[in-house]
Amino acid sequence: MSSREGGCFEPSSKADAKMQLEGFAAVKELIDEAQRIVICAHTSPDGDALGSVLGLMETIRARWPHKEVTPLLADDAPVPRIYSFLPHAEELERPSAYTLDPDLFIAVDLSQMGRLNLAQEVCRRAKKVAVLDHHPCDVPMGDAEVVRPGAAAVGVIIAEFALFLQVEITPHIAQNLLCAIVTDTGRFQYQNADGEAFAVASLLVSRGASPSEISLNVYQSFRLPFLHLKSLVMGRITTFEGGRIAYSYATQNDLERTGADLDESDGLIDVVRSVEGSEIALFLKKVPNGKVRGNLRSKGAHDVSAVARLMGGGGHRAAAGFTFDGDIDEALAAVLPPLRKLLKENCDAARSEG
Ligand code: 5GP
Ligand code: MN
Repeated sequence: MSSREGGCFEPSSKADAKMQLEGFAAVKELIDEAQRIVICAHTSPDGDALGSVLGLMETIRARWPHKEVTPLLADDAPVPRIYSFLPHAEELERPSAYTLDPDLFIAVDLSQMGRLNLAQEVCRRAKKVAVLDHHPCDVPMGDAEVVRPGAAAVGVIIAEFALFLQVEITPHIAQNLLCAIVTDTGRFQYQNADGEAFAVASLLVSRGASPSEISLNVYQSFRLPFLHLKSLVMGRITTFEGGRIAYSYATQNDLERTGADLDESDGLIDVVRSVEGSEIALFLKKVPNGKVRGNLRSKGAHDVSAVARLMGGGGHRAAAGFTFDGDIDEALAAVLPPLRKLLKENCDAARSEG
């Protein structure tokens, strides 16, 4: 890791550092050329998606005060309640309300255009597209991009982009980007919580970000109906493969009974992954239009994104998701065999190495 001001503010691998620097220069050039800029992250936005969009928005405004920069949502839905405290969250626009043709569309935290949901239309109308992301992706999507799967969060990449642009990191930029990093690393507890994530987080705190405010809003402000749903989900956790796969689910009826909202149930996979000895966690929930959303997590070396892709979704090695047409039982029947196969293959590989 190279260090500046005692921290590591660039990727540890030389190849990644070079790629990132070149990508930053190319993205900067696109911003230089554009007047009307839209920044948008993925559908059902999480803390990295929203914090990165808002942190980048303020960074670009600071460096180019005369450009028109709009933060856009991918869905025609309100900002999730737990993230509405983020500075400038009230400026996030819904895609159906944005009718202009942007010069530049910056997609953050997504590797497939489909993940833009309704904002795909806006993206199609843009003259140029830039991508800042950390999902593994084989096919380049933008005219310029930084795609770095080694980055714990897109918030890390944007903080380094602000340093590259020599933009002063204000307390608002810092708060948005710290929220991105805290949430995508599971409060610095997942496998992606590396030295770079801690170093950038430390810089952001020194520039005015408040970890306790993030914690209060994101992790200590659950509505009672959600906690009742959580207890239902907890109560029905089951395991397969001798405890190595942990599984639970939430039905439409559970949501109705408890009064919990669908977007509140996003964090329930964390309950499932907390089972002792589990290596893979699976959570299924019924969503509208006859579909099931699946969340997959790996606590070890298993690459659950491969199984998510097989199911038509995607994500990272340790955190991935998919959407399935059908019922929960059918989704479980479809996803369990490839998960079992993944465990067995890794087990066989470990045995032949040992
Ligand atoms: P989550 O399970 O929290 O929804 O998503 C975990 C990770 O997988 C996130 O990084 C998310 O962007 C990615 N992901 C979730 N669902 C999908 C999907 O349907 N397609 C793709 N490409 N990525 C997904
Ligand atoms: Mn992310």
